[in-house]
Parts: sequence; C-alpha cells; structure tokens
Amino acid sequence: MAWSGRCAAAALRGARAWGRWQALGRRGAASCIDPSAGLTEEQKEFQKVAFDFAAKEMAPHMAEWDEKEIFPVETLRKAAQLGFGGIYVKPDVGGSGLSRLDTSIIFEALSTGCTSTTAYISIHNMCAWMIDTFGSEEQRHKFCPSLCSMEKLASYCLTEPGSGSDAASLLTSARRKGDAYVLNGSKAFISGGGDTDVYVVMCRTGGPGPKGISCLVLEKGTPGLSFGKKERKVGWNSQPTRAVIFEDCAVPVANRLGAEGQGFGIAMKGLNGGRINIASCSLGAAHASVLLAQEHLTVRKQFGEPLASNQYLQFRLAEMATRLVAARLMVRNAAQALQEGREDAVALCSMAKLFATDECFAICNQALQMHGGYGYLKDYAVQQFLRDIRVHQILEGTNEVMRMIVARSLLQE
Ligand SMILES: Cc1cc2nc3c(=O)[nH]c(=O)nc-3n(C[C@H](O)[C@H](O)[C@H](O)COP(=O)(O)OP(=O)(O)OC[C@H]3O[C@@H](n4cnc5c(N)ncnc54)[C@H](O)[C@@H]3O)c2cc1C
Repeated sequence: MAWSGRCAAAALRGARAWGRWQALGRRGAASCIDPSAGLTEEQKEFQKVAFDFAAKEMAPHMAEWDEKEIFPVETLRKAAQLGFGGIYVKPDVGGSGLSRLDTSIIFEALSTGCTSTTAYISIHNMCAWMIDTFGSEEQRHKFCPSLCSMEKLASYCLTEPGSGSDAASLLTSARRKGDAYVLNGSKAFISGGGDTDVYVVMCRTGGPGPKGISCLVLEKGTPGLSFGKKERKVGWNSQPTRAVIFEDCAVPVANRLGAEGQGFGIAMKGLNGGRINIASCSLGAAHASVLLAQEHLTVRKQFGEPLASNQYLQFRLAEMATRLVAARLMVRNAAQALQEGREDAVALCSMAKLFATDECFAICNQALQMHGGYGYLKDYAVQQFLRDIRVHQILEGTNEVMRMIVARSLLQE
C-alpha cells in the first residue's frame, strides 16, 4: 500500500523527459527483449518508476561516480523514498513488503542507470531483510526503519582474509563477557565498509565449522571498530570496499540475530536472495548494453552501409537478445521459487546467479566488441557496464561455488 502512493508520485515525476537512456528504454520496451513482458500491471508500474529513477537520477551521473569514486548517498536516500531501501522488508518497520520477483524487477531496472550503485542498494536490502527476518521485535524496530529510509546504510560482513569461498572457516571471534560479546578479527572486501553505519557480522562464538558461527549487528562508532584503506577496483567504483577490523569491540548480546550457532544459516539465507539480486543487476547491465549495441549498429557505417546490415552482426545481436531473455527467465523463476519457500530454491538461486552473471557478462563483452574501438573508450557507457558486472561472477559466492551448490543438490537426492 505504501508502495502505490509512492509509485503514483514517482510516476508523475517520471513523466518528464529522461534524455538518452529513456529513449533507449522505450525502444527496448517495444521489442522481444521487453523486460515488462508478462508482468502484472502493478509490477509494470513500479518497474517504470525504477526505470525512470535510473534514467533521471542515476544514468546522468554514472560515469562521474565511477571516475571520481563517489558514493552517492543522497541518491540512495532518494531511491529509498521510492521504497527501494527495504524492498522485501515488512511494512510495519518501513519496508515495501514486496516479493522476491518484484525485487528482481526493480533491481534490473535500476541497474540500467548505474549497476554499481544498484548493487550496493541490493546488499543494503539483503542486510535489512536479515534483521527484519531473524531479528527480535525490538531489533526490527530499532534498526529497520532507518535502514529502509537509508538514513543509515548497512554492510554484510562474511568474507575474511583467510576465508572466502570456504566461508564456514571464518576466524573472527566473539567471546561472551557479561552482557556483551568481545569481537576480534577482520573482514575483507566489505561493500560500503567505512561509509556505512550498520555492520551485520558473522563471527565465531563456538567451535569450528558452520555451527560455531553467530550473527551480530554492530554499529559504527563502537570503540575498537576500524577500517582498512579504500580498495582500488576494476569496477563497482561508486561504492567503497574496505577491510573491517575489530579490536576488542564490545557488542551487546542484545544485538545478536537469532540464537548462538545460527549465524551461518542466517548468512546463507541472506545470500540466496542476494544472488537473485546481484543476478538482476547483471540483467540490467546486459539489457542496457544490448540497447547500446543496437543503436550503435544502426548509426555506425562501414563499407558504405550501417553495421546493422551485416548479417554476422545481426546474428550476434540476436544471440545476445536470446541469452538476455533466457537469463531473465532463470532469475525470475528462481525468485518465484524463493518467494514460495520451495525446496529447490537454493539450487535454483545458485543456477540463476551462475547462468545470468556469466551470460550477461558475455553480452556486455559482445556489445563492447560491436562498438569497436569506441567501446573501449570511457566516453561510451558499455565499458562501464562490463567493468561493473565482472565482479558479479566472483562475489556472493563465486560461480565455482554456485556449481558446487547445484551439484550437491543433485547428488544428495
Ligand atoms: C568488490 C567486491 C565486493 C565484495 N563485497 C563483499 C561484502 O560486502 N561482504 C562480504 O562478506 N564479502 C564481499 N566480497 C568478497 C567475495 O564474496 C569473495 O571475494 C568471494 O566469496 C571469493 O572469495 P576469495 O576472494 O577469498 O576467493 P577464494 O575463495 O580464494 O577463491 C579463489 C578462486 O578459487 C576458486 N575456488 C575456491 N575453492 C574452490 C573449489 N573448492 N572448487 C573450485 N574452485 C574453487 C574460486 O571460485 C575462485 O575462482 C566482495 C568481493 C569483491 C571483489
């Protein structure tokens, strides 16, 4: 309900001119790659809001945010005003209460405006959902409203210098001392790290392996919490990535999500949705790249004709469109399975993340190739989409780990 009101207001604002991206978006909407095909009227409505926001508030700045490594916090808060700060968080704590499929549709659309910024919003949403779902009523009401408005920003802290793919081997320790845990250790590659306010930290309260892991919510300003230098990255430059360091950080026991030992399960449940979200961000980048390639083939002439009249390039464009639609169907199918709580959801989310992030990277790469030398220039958006989605094959579980999860589900049956 909160959504309809926000949608209506935003739809009115979105009726104004968008510029280049909107023109491209309209062309896509009339074609076989139309991302609104098969959606309900309500879904089409908030998808349009997200496309409008992407075109108006993000696309004009995406190159500058990348170049100058700007974390656009004010834009994030504007996105939150449309309900994008807690898309699948329950409405009683400020969330939009939408489904996983709805969320995927929104992230796909937003990502056409700036993939890196949207990917951060997706991580923030994942953290907010973890607190909403596994937190007590007190924790939900304490943290979720300011996360949904993005007044406060969140980071997800699982990876450590010595534990990446083997996340259950993490070493950050939390020893109970009265009403607090004393946290020691460090996390690597934390998205938003240093600039965010709320850290959802997986740490060891018990013995080795996944069952010894708990999940604590840590607030910026806690004595003993510090950050490493900002990492220099290939893409995802509109969001900072830093190490997060804990030195005798006292975290109230009241900030633990779930029971001791449930942290790894909570972290993995967060990631199931996270994988759909990150795959959706890849879809948006690939969608934008297909439109850019389509336009370039039409405008650029070689051998006396537009590139578009070359059958080889026509076939490659057709392949890109086919792969995009296939990837989108995979992602939406997995989102639906997750929403329904189906047993096959974990494997389907992994399959969708594997397939969509690989296929979408290939699509962006082919789109860049179609631009020739221009595609390699920073004046052309296609190179940024390519750089921004490369990391989607690595994080939230590498695509090798996705294969492990799918194989495990097949062989354990
Ligand atoms: C920009 C960026 C942002 C990130 N944001 C976050 C964040 O917000 N929070 C967070 O917790 N983490 C984050 N990460 C960390 C990310 O999730 C990890 O980098 C990822 O899980 C891989 O871990 P690793 O880098 O240690 O690689 P490793 O685990 O060392 O793997 C190296 C390579 O070996 C492969 N490999 C490992 N084991 C196997 C196996 N058994 N079989 C086959 N292949 C295998 C991997 O797939 C990979 O290709 C981020 C990373 C990056 C780059």
